[in-house]
Amino acid sequence: MIIISDINEMQRLADEHRAGGRRIGFVPTMGFLHEGHLDLLRLARRASDIVVLSIFVNPTQFAAGEDLDRYPRDFERDCTLAESTGCDIVFAPKAAQMYPEGDASWVHVDQLGSSLEGASRPTHFRGVTTVVTKLFHIVRPHLSVFGQKDAQQAAIIRRMTRDLHFGIDIVIAPIRREPDGLAMSSRNTYLSDQDRREALALSHALQLARQKYDNGERRTAELRSTLLDELQRSGAVDLDYAAIVHPDTFEPAGEMITGRVLIAIAARVGKTRLIDNMTLGEKAIDS
Ligand code: AMP
Repeated sequence: MIIISDINEMQRLADEHRAGGRRIGFVPTMGFLHEGHLDLLRLARRASDIVVLSIFVNPTQFAAGEDLDRYPRDFERDCTLAESTGCDIVFAPKAAQMYPEGDASWVHVDQLGSSLEGASRPTHFRGVTTVVTKLFHIVRPHLSVFGQKDAQQAAIIRRMTRDLHFGIDIVIAPIRREPDGLAMSSRNTYLSDQDRREALALSHALQLARQKYDNGERRTAELRSTLLDELQRSGAVDLDYAAIVHPDTFEPAGEMITGRVLIAIAARVGKTRLIDNMTLGEKAIDS
């Protein structure tokens, strides 16, 4: 496995692999890897000849006052874990090269990014779509793997890739959870023991809603009440949103659930903001 930080060098190598007819699979991350990230790498490994992992804590997707400065980092450990999955290249660029002096270009996806995460973090998705565009132009992948954990982000990247004719296959991997149900996240490291126990309210609420759905409940309002009751009962989480939406458009679901829907939750547990989601209906991605 090789480690590259220079953008031009990464582009040269990507061109070489493409010219040699090798398929490049790409997994963009902010590092501090966990099993969820490794699942993405394993998926890329199975589907490509060359696997590239990027590790870049992207400043433009953090708003002032968010956790950019204290975001967890452990580059050596990340490299060891990545190598264990058969990763070929770790690309870890410097912010100053990714955003050169005088940089004034942004990539923005309308509509999809205005609700839920976009409403709570108004500049977040613009930072994500811009950095992913830059990374796509540097790594030049044939395929890129994202996690359903960030469902709205995955939908936005898919839309951007289609609208802007990137010619890259976007693959979405299911959410990897801890044995007790908590969705894995680099930010879980912020949780105190008490926060960690309280954070289970998110996945419990989603599981309860799924049980009701499996038992035949199709009224959106009822399912949403189940979520809210469970989250309120736990008392410890400060809810940002709990929404039932169409999984591709992120428009609110109708009164009755007919096709697939996504239940998305964001909440603060202690000082940590967590997100989780679950798909209901046919071909649920996380069933
Ligand atoms: P991050 O490093 O948090 O920016 O995440 C990098 C990629 O890993 C994104 O596509 C995430 O959606 C994905 N990811 C993060 N957590 C999980 C998880 N628990 N299961 C599956 N994918 C995940």
